[in-house]
Amino acid sequence: TGDGDTAWLRVPSGTADALRALAQREGSTLFTVLLSAWAVLLHQLSGQRDIVIGTPVRGRNLPELESVMGFFVNALPLRLQLDPAQGFRSLLQATRSEMIDAIGCQDVPFEHLVRVLSASVEGVRRDTSRFPIYQAFFSYQDARQRPCRWGDLAHANVPVFQPAAAQDVALWFLDGADGLVGGLNYNTDILFAETAQLLVERYLAMLAALAKQLHDVPLRTLLSVTAAETERLTAWNDTASPLPADGSLSGYLDNAIARHGERALLRHGDTAITHAELSTQADRIATSLQDRGIAQGAIVGLHLQRSPAMLAAMLGVLRAGAAYLPLDPGFPAERLKFMVEDADAALVIDDSDHMLDLASCRRLALGVALAADAKPLQPLECSDDALAYLIYTSGSTGKPKGVRVPQRAVINFLESMRRSPGLDATSRLAAVTTLSFDIAVLELLLPLAVGAELILVDRDEASDGVALRSLLERHQVDTMQATPSTWRLLLESGWRGGPQWKALCGGEALPVDLAEALLPRVGALWNMYGPTETTVWSTCVQIRPGQGDIVVGRPIANTQVHVLDDEGTPVPIGVAGELVIAGAGVTLGYHQRDDLTDEKFIVDPVTPGARMYRTGDLGRWRSDGQLQHLGRLDQQIKLRGYRIETGEIESVLARHPDVAQAVVVAAARSSEDAILAAYIVPRAGAG
Ligand code: AMP
Repeated sequence: TGDGDTAWLRVPSGTADALRALAQREGSTLFTVLLSAWAVLLHQLSGQRDIVIGTPVRGRNLPELESVMGFFVNALPLRLQLDPAQGFRSLLQATRSEMIDAIGCQDVPFEHLVRVLSASVEGVRRDTSRFPIYQAFFSYQDARQRPCRWGDLAHANVPVFQPAAAQDVALWFLDGADGLVGGLNYNTDILFAETAQLLVERYLAMLAALAKQLHDVPLRTLLSVTAAETERLTAWNDTASPLPADGSLSGYLDNAIARHGERALLRHGDTAITHAELSTQADRIATSLQDRGIAQGAIVGLHLQRSPAMLAAMLGVLRAGAAYLPLDPGFPAERLKFMVEDADAALVIDDSDHMLDLASCRRLALGVALAADAKPLQPLECSDDALAYLIYTSGSTGKPKGVRVPQRAVINFLESMRRSPGLDATSRLAAVTTLSFDIAVLELLLPLAVGAELILVDRDEASDGVALRSLLERHQVDTMQATPSTWRLLLESGWRGGPQWKALCGGEALPVDLAEALLPRVGALWNMYGPTETTVWSTCVQIRPGQGDIVVGRPIANTQVHVLDDEGTPVPIGVAGELVIAGAGVTLGYHQRDDLTDEKFIVDPVTPGARMYRTGDLGRWRSDGQLQHLGRLDQQIKLRGYRIETGEIESVLARHPDVAQAVVVAAARSSEDAILAAYIVPRAGAG
């Protein structure tokens, strides 16, 4: 809509005078200084280096027009290039020459320009909800020479409330007897009032800094976090929450099973067992593992079909003091073998139907383990770096990399999720995700931790919307976590949900249209965000109707999210930067990849000895304390929930003797249907 509002501003007279002096020194004008500063602010907020700003011209260049009544004002789009390393003075010069060029063409009607550019080869895309060519505006009127008195008639400037906005953001100034005053007129569909206020404050702070500036400082130094902002950022990251003293995951789960185990059910197909029965199976598996010499610190692969025994094996491995390595039998055998070898797995638990062909590693048949007599297990001391699982994720250099996830991080995660989004003993959760995707940890372990009913869904059912819908209805499921593609599949099946439903969506960006389709069908919709390297989810938020942009929320318990620039310095609220995650969820890095670990897990300046993880995600804090995810800074993509480094595929393709170069991209066949596409340059002489 064209709904708008204005945040008023006044430049203190000392600053205005200093800026006039700066303009004069540089052979420029106050107009150019204010406009350049506006461009710097837009550049900093958007990360864009190519910025178009519209500015009005009078359109009365001919003497004949002076006495003609009418509106002759024309709009000039100014295209400015900005580089964070560039100095402000050099930007001033560039703005000045751009302005001179544009003034030379001021008679070209803006409407004509829109028509011509829309029809040109590259074509300015028309979007009827936006102003064409530019969405930011700037105007400055020098009214200092205007008469303020006509005989006995006095006039004064009265700011008129404008409840509308023609552009997304328009900054205007009137330089007159009242000083240098202005306003930021903004579209209220796009900006909150507090954001507009923040922008005005930041702009004024920048003008104050420029007024003091004697040297040509780089644009990036004009951006700084104010003390008040630091206070707000600290408050948003204040997520301290107590944790159980014992850091052992199996101890934590055992306690919960002791409380709820006789009552809470685990269903699979037509069978149901209690959590206590599951626990007995886990004891047998743990005993079998200990009998085979599996001790604390060992890695045990789980090459298992989805069944209650898969979950028992997870628990059994933890009870034996080892960590599990998920090996989804649906994954290519070669990839699974690589993981087993790279992880130095001590043993793989296999179902007999789907044996992995392994030379390097011992094997334990699931049936054999389940048939063993359970011996009483000694409670284990759990060190701070004891692993819960080692999980592989795509690696840009051609090989997957193993993320080492400690037990204490998983406990923190489960404790946080138990409270929010929240799960309790009355919930019925359907688990649809492969164990090889870390979000399965929530689906499988959280119900055990709270005594909820767990309905284990087979892979075939999870990938068939109609089958999934009927399963959910049959078991009166009220909670499910899934990627956007699974939620779409379910919606297409005609699933109706209900007010008792809690829908958790994560793993990739939640599209607005999907949120809108889900909201009327559920009691609560949650957006979950986080990388494997910081233990499943690091932020979450309940999405409510009519909120506009989708956010990823706030940090979960004992977690901090920082938005940093490429120098590692925090950027102000509203400014985009890399999301860097600190706190209890940060894992121990990549298995036997110290170089990569040091690159991605950087020193946490706040907590001695701790690290924080550079996600490679672009994001920003909104002024309401919500984090927004804005895409990737690298070539990592998500396809139907799978995390893929396109570099991994490119480097495999490049190994082919006939391939000189390869590039892999996610190509959209439609908004619903993306594919991976590889482009190659054949080697000269290749057939
Ligand atoms: P993974 O390690 O497979 O969980 O993938 C983590 C990456 O998935 C993140 O770094 C994001 O790029 C993306 N991601 C996960 N959840 C979300 C979300 N809710 N919104 C946007 N991106 C997401």
